[in-house]
This record gives sequence, structure tokens and C-alpha cells, in this order.
Amino acid sequence: MVSSPANVQYLSGFNGSNGLMLLAPSEAHFITDPRYAQEASETITCKVHIAKGPLALEAAKIIKRKRFKKIGFEPAWMNMAEHGRLEKALPSRVLLHPVAPFLEDLRAVKSPEEIALIRHSVNANSEAYARTMKRVRTGLRELEIAAELEFQMKVLGCEKPAFETIVAVGERTALPHAHPSLRRLQANELLLIDMGATLDGYTSDMTRVLFAGKPPKKVRDLYQAVLEAQLAGLDAVRPDIAVSQVDGAARNVLKSHKLDKQFVHSTGHGLGLEIHETPKIGKLQKGVKKKDEIKLRAGMVITIEPGAYIAGFGGVRIEDTVLVTERGCEVLTPTSKELGGVV
Ligand code: ZN
Ligand code: ZN
Repeated sequence: MVSSPANVQYLSGFNGSNGLMLLAPSEAHFITDPRYAQEASETITCKVHIAKGPLALEAAKIIKRKRFKKIGFEPAWMNMAEHGRLEKALPSRVLLHPVAPFLEDLRAVKSPEEIALIRHSVNANSEAYARTMKRVRTGLRELEIAAELEFQMKVLGCEKPAFETIVAVGERTALPHAHPSLRRLQANELLLIDMGATLDGYTSDMTRVLFAGKPPKKVRDLYQAVLEAQLAGLDAVRPDIAVSQVDGAARNVLKSHKLDKQFVHSTGHGLGLEIHETPKIGKLQKGVKKKDEIKLRAGMVITIEPGAYIAGFGGVRIEDTVLVTERGCEVLTPTSKELGGVV
């Protein structure tokens, strides 16, 4: 039983808000509600069921009719209410069994078609950035800049931002996940933009940093250190390397600049139908043996995004979307990584 919206979309192409699939060795069932009946009949190639009530109850009917005995479900995508409803609707001989996220592992390596879609998304995202930058001036509010970025994404055909666009100015750039506010960009301040677009279902992710005026040495040094770390991270990306080694490559550079304590998140993440997917590019997790660690594979699409954040002063993060290739990697993001300026 597949309930994760991204997994349902991956398997069926359906991108509505309410879909459920039952996969058996020789058959597949897709369940949705009447709002999506037309869309489902036109696009879904397996058996379509339109549920009047909760999808799980329709699933229970199919399970009983087909005499399925053991149902694997996605624990991260099944809530207690739904689980209880299913248990009540099914005879006691049917076993509900949580399964490991194997579809997420399958999704980590992208097909050529998916890679093409991600390229489109990355290019549209960078174009929205370039168009917006022509209009960014001191005096604009964070929210106004975020609105312009998202407006340009939509003008370029993207269905939505892939996540809440981050625009932060001044000392607020030290907050890695700042929500855009009414704060205005002033002269001699940092501006950090972290943005992604969803285009034809596929996401992109990029962070760039600008300075309104001539950057002082402290800003230039911070920027250079993070850029060096980002390039070291990119340089490490190749098939068969453990994710913690890629993270370590970026982290060690920041350590050499005494900035490792200021690097408070992981180096990157997979992306695709969702903005955060397997693999996470971070430190070796406690309890995970080195030999069991996830290794990069050709066809994975990940971000490399080290950052350093100094409270009360500001922060820098530089992020590209990257394709793992047979020999190393291809940086998909076309936007320049020079410390940008604002007129
Ligand atoms: Zn980002
Ligand atoms: Zn990211």
C-alpha cells in the first residue's frame, strides 16, 4: 500500500492531493476521490477505483475481495487514525506490516527523462533569479524580493516554488532558514537567496549571496571560505563515494578556516519529485556502520550547499544542484558563483 504522494506520483504520474495505490505481484490498483475521477481515467493505466469516503476503506474492500493476506504499508505516511480504520475494516487474518522505504531508494537514481526534467527546473529557477536580480535595489523588502522571484518562476512556466523561498538581508542571513520579512535591504548589507522551483513535478534548489555595495574584508573572507568548501564538496562527488566523505570534504575546508562550528547543517540532499530526498549528504549517523553507509551512484541528483553563519553579523551559503555522473559530477546550476553585487 503506497500512500506517499511523491511515491504515488512516481509510480502512476498522478499529482493530485489524494491518491493511494495497492501493488500486488501481478496487478496494481489506484484509488482516488471523485474530484480526480476525470484526471485519473485519462492518465492512470492501471485499475482505477473512485472512493466515496476515506481511501483506506476502499483499499480494504479491494484487499478483502482479492484475498490479499499481508499488506506492507509506509509507516512514515500512515497516521494512527488511518491505521485504526484499516485494522477495523479488515478481517483479523490480514496482517498490516510496516516496510522500509524501498521506493525512496529506487527514486534516488534518476532516469534520463527525470534528469531532463530536473535540468528544465534548474534552468527556469536560475532564469527567475537572473530576471529578479535586474530589479533588486536597496530599499526593497525581503518579502518583495521573494514575491518577485516566485512571480518570475510562474511566468517561466513553473507550477510553484519547490519550498518557501528564503530571502534574508543583513544579520538575518545568519539564520539558515529565515522566513522573508518586512525588513528592507540597506546599503552595505548581505543578501542571501535560497530558491527552488517545481516544474513538471521536478524540483531545483540554489542559494546565492550578494552584497549591497563594496564588500568589506570580513565578508569577502567568509565568502571565499564557503566557496572553497563548496568547490571541495563538488570535487568529491563521484560514484561509490560514501556520503559522509563528501560532507567531510566540505566540512574540513571550513574547519581549516575555523568555521566548522558555524556550519550547522549537512552539506546537501537528494532532490527530485520532492525537494528533500535520499541521499542526505551529511556526517556518518550514529549507529550506522561505515560499510552500510549510502554511497553515491551515477544518476543521483543532489545539492552541495555548505554555509557558515555568524550570529549578529551574517551568513553565507552557496548551493548548486548537481548530477552524479560516471566520472564525477556535472553542476547543473548555470548561475555564477562570484559574490554578487546589488546596484
Ligand atoms: Zn536551498
Ligand atoms: Zn537545499
